[in-house]
Amino acid sequence: MTDDPRPLTSRARGRDRSRIELPDGLVLGGEEVVLIAGPCAVESEAQLFAAARGVSAAGARMLRGGAFKPRTSPYAFQGLGEEALELLARARADTGLPLVTEALDEQGVARVARVADVIQIGSRNMANGALLRRAARAGRPVLLKRGMAATLDELLHAAEYLMVEGNAQVLLCERGIRGFDGSTRFVFDLTAIPLLRQLTHLPIVADPSHATGRSDLVPAMARAAIAAGADALLLEVHPDPAHALSDGAQSLDLAGFATLVDDLRTVAEAIGRPLAVRSGSGR
Ligand code: PEP
Ligand code: MN
Repeated sequence: MTDDPRPLTSRARGRDRSRIELPDGLVLGGEEVVLIAGPCAVESEAQLFAAARGVSAAGARMLRGGAFKPRTSPYAFQGLGEEALELLARARADTGLPLVTEALDEQGVARVARVADVIQIGSRNMANGALLRRAARAGRPVLLKRGMAATLDELLHAAEYLMVEGNAQVLLCERGIRGFDGSTRFVFDLTAIPLLRQLTHLPIVADPSHATGRSDLVPAMARAAIAAGADALLLEVHPDPAHALSDGAQSLDLAGFATLVDDLRTVAEAIGRPLAVRSGSGR
C-alpha cells in the first residue's frame, strides 16, 4: 500500500493523462476538446430527436439526456425512465453519437449501462459509495459530477471508489458549487479545472449549464472552461427552452448552441486544442 491517500486518481509520479476511448473514434482526454450536448431530460420523441439531430449537425460529438432525473422536489418531473432509455437508444443510433445518461440508484445501473456509453453519476449522488461501486462494475466509463458542496478532495475520493473497483475509465465533472449569491444557480469553480489537471490524470469535463443556471451566461463560461483546460463540455440544449420540463432557464436553443460552437472552435484552436470533429465531416 502506498502513502498516497488517493493512489489511483493521483497524477503523482509523472503519470500520463488518461484517455477514454468511446465508439465512433471519440477520445475524451485526448488532444481535442469534446462537446457533449443535449436536453436536461428526455421529454418526448420529437423533443429528443430535434435536440439530438440539432446538436449533432452543429458539432457535438456526444449526446446527453436524462431518463431518470434527480430533482430537488419530488413533485417536479422525474424523467420518463425506461421509455426515455428506449428513445435515447434510438437517438444514439440515428445520430451515431455516443450517449451519456444518469443512473440514479443501484437498481438502475444495469439498465442504464445497456443503453449508455458513459454512465453519469449526478451531483446529489457523488458521495453514494454503494452506487459508485455498482456503477464502476457495470463495464462502462463513468462521468462523476462534483457534489454541489463537495471539496475537490472529496470529489477525488469519490473517484477512488470507482477506480478501486477496477474501473479506470473515470471522468470528473465540475458543475458548480453552492455559493451565497443567488444571482446564479451555483458558482462555477473555474479554478477547479487547472487544479484538477495538477492533482489527477483523469479527464476533466465542465458543465457551465448547471454551474450558472442561466443560458445567457453559458457561452462565456463555456469559452472560459476550454481556455482553462477542460477536456470536454457538458451543455444543456433544448429545441424549445421556454417549454422545457426541467432546467429550461439554463438550456441553449439550437441556434444558440450552433453559434456557441463557432465561438468555441475559435477558442479551442487559439489554445492549440481543436474541437473534436467527426471523421469525414470536414468541420
Ligand atoms: C444533469 O446533468 O442533468 C444533472 C442533474 O446535473 P447535476 O447532477 O450536476 O445537478
Ligand atoms: Mn439539468
